[in-house]
Amino acid sequence: MGTAYKRILLKLSGEALMGDLGYGIDPAVVQDIAQEVAEVVNMGVQVAIVVGGGNIFRGVKAAAGGMDRATADYVGMIATVMNSITLQDALEQIGVPTRVQTAIAMQEIAEPYIRRKAIRHLELNRVVIFGAGSGNPFFTTDTTAALRAAEIDAEVIFKATKVDGIYDSDPKQNPDAKRYKTLTYGYVLTHDLRVMDSTAIALCKENNIPIIVFDLTVRGNISRAVSGEPVGTLVGG
Ligand code: UDP
Repeated sequence: MGTAYKRILLKLSGEALMGDLGYGIDPAVVQDIAQEVAEVVNMGVQVAIVVGGGNIFRGVKAAAGGMDRATADYVGMIATVMNSITLQDALEQIGVPTRVQTAIAMQEIAEPYIRRKAIRHLELNRVVIFGAGSGNPFFTTDTTAALRAAEIDAEVIFKATKVDGIYDSDPKQNPDAKRYKTLTYGYVLTHDLRVMDSTAIALCKENNIPIIVFDLTVRGNISRAVSGEPVGTLVGG
């Protein structure tokens, strides 16, 4: 079966690994995600992943509680490394060779981020997980996803969420809420639709990287999207 994309960047929020726990990592959920990633890798698609850290620590929230913002953001970035290594473990346990590269050096447990090396791993069909965000405070892992996607020439960003796309109003509150099939970057920015933060959207716009917003909790959705099936909402030019 042909695929619509050869190289994708999958953005997983920290919450995606949390399941219904409310905090931390649910190993069963991580195993499910690993299984879905494995399916896509077996289809011959090169997969890079950026994982968030919101299931463990969020810099903005800690700063609101009185912590120094930059310091809090470093803690947030380290949280993403915990998620990255956990996901790596789940992938390797099912036979998917995976490398974690971190934007903050932690050489005992992961490779440092080296763009050319990341691309080489992908070419060898290894999954590459980018940990520690961009390495800079005041940024997010969504922006990191846009940045890394541009750096490694990913054709598309798959933004995994818990809803099946972008709606004109909150589908949980409004039963008549309509889901968009496609949207332009400009529309997302001017209407402040919080798909990804505006820095991330602007970076995607500038580099012409489409974003597919889809529901990760529906089994098989990543494979469907990779096959070119219309899953969720496509944000593009
Ligand atoms: N973070 C940061 N710089 C980055 C990426 C992340 O400082 O380039 C910090 C920030 O504190 C953020 C936390 O890491 O709150 C976790 O990332 P994020 O909130 O993006 O995770 P997600 O919402 O995807 O779970």
